Amino acid sequence: MSDLQAAAPTPSGLHYRTVPVTAFAQNCSIVWCGDTRDAAIIDPGGDLDRLLAEVQRLGVQLKAIWLTHAHIDHAGGTAELAKRLGLPIIGPHPGDQFWIDGLPQQSQMFGFPPAGHFTPTRWLADGDTVQIGRCTLNVRHCPGHTPGHVVFHSPQAQRVFVGDVLFAGSIGRTDFPQGNHGQLLSSIRERLWPMGDDTVFIPGHGPESTLGEERRFNPYVRGQ
Ligand SMILES: [Zn+2]
Ligand SMILES: [Zn+2]
Repeated sequence: MSDLQAAAPTPSGLHYRTVPVTAFAQNCSIVWCGDTRDAAIIDPGGDLDRLLAEVQRLGVQLKAIWLTHAHIDHAGGTAELAKRLGLPIIGPHPGDQFWIDGLPQQSQMFGFPPAGHFTPTRWLADGDTVQIGRCTLNVRHCPGHTPGHVVFHSPQAQRVFVGDVLFAGSIGRTDFPQGNHGQLLSSIRERLWPMGDDTVFIPGHGPESTLGEERRFNPYVRGQ
């Protein structure tokens, strides 16, 4: 695609581009408002040069970093990106403080480039909203995979960015410290399903799917 095409105005509403980053192919999403072209980046786990090239190609203005949770593949590039561009760090929920504190050890353990420490500019809680341009997304607290995991939901666009809560055909691991399988199932049942069967979710890894598809066919949450 040429730069000219990429810079052409997009229709109103929320747009996004997902770029898999790190050795874990984590789906980092660049989301932007079609009216203002203000953008937020969800879960910049690493590969910052690739992400920033994509931001430039899209012709959008990065205004904030939004975090679903503080695992290394999702949050590893946060400190450096925030410092480089002077961006605020929004999220996750305070339950993930210990994962943020452990980022240096996480990067060592998984062979990632050293991850710097950061303090979120704004912690998130269930029921909060985040704003980018003229687009507002609802924040839901979905603990279980990590205690401070949040998701970002746009009812208008019928999209939800779910991190490692739910995947096409699977669910998040709960064998980490403070992981909780029952809590994860409750989060999915009580906070994701009410968003509606037609809502498309963008998971932290792998392909997109709809909530309805998973509610019917995902063996881990079918019938929940
Ligand atoms: Zn995770
Ligand atoms: Zn992940």
